[in-house]
Amino acid sequence: MAKAYIGLGANLGDREANIRRALSLLQEMEVARVRRVSNLIETEPVGGPEGQELYLNGAAEIETQLSPCDLLEALKIIEVSVGRIERERWAPREVDLDILLWEDEVVCNKILTVPHPRLCERMFVLRPLADIAPAAVHPVTKMTIAEHLAKLAGEEEQ
Ligand code: ATP
Ligand code: CA
Ligand code: CA
Repeated sequence: MAKAYIGLGANLGDREANIRRALSLLQEMEVARVRRVSNLIETEPVGGPEGQELYLNGAAEIETQLSPCDLLEALKIIEVSVGRIERERWAPREVDLDILLWEDEVVCNKILTVPHPRLCERMFVLRPLADIAPAAVHPVTKMTIAEHLAKLAGEEEQ
């Protein structure tokens, strides 16, 4: 069993219901066991088209027997099951499931980069992740999630 953290986001439809449905499907489809879920926080959209609705963002700790690439495939199937359709990059979406961390491994191929490449620069990802995994170590920077959150908060204050 591998421990991984996934990012949860939604800004279309019943955002909380979409995220809860995705978490249920992870278990029902035997993709993963959901061990912990952060608080869901409301955040401003970053990037993408103008005029998007606010996001609900969270993070979950999961245990899975799937490889990182198979997990990504399963997450995409769950996104579609919850109602996500194909749109332009960073467009509004019913649900978004990203792999943030996978054990302490680094994965980099055509379809998947872990840790998530924009993890350390996103308040809306670091805040919920720090809720459930402040001591998790980023395998590239060797900094903890709590340290990354403090660093980004300091940078944003300036
Ligand atoms: P962002 O990656 O900036 O959060 P996004 O989540 O809106 O953007 P998507 O359209 O959901 O982007 O996904 C685009 C592609 O990103 C996916 O098809 C997937 O192959 C790739 N990808 C690479 N690394 C990851 C990862 N760690 N988690 C999820 N998808 C990833
Ligand atoms: Ca994303
Ligand atoms: Ca995504």
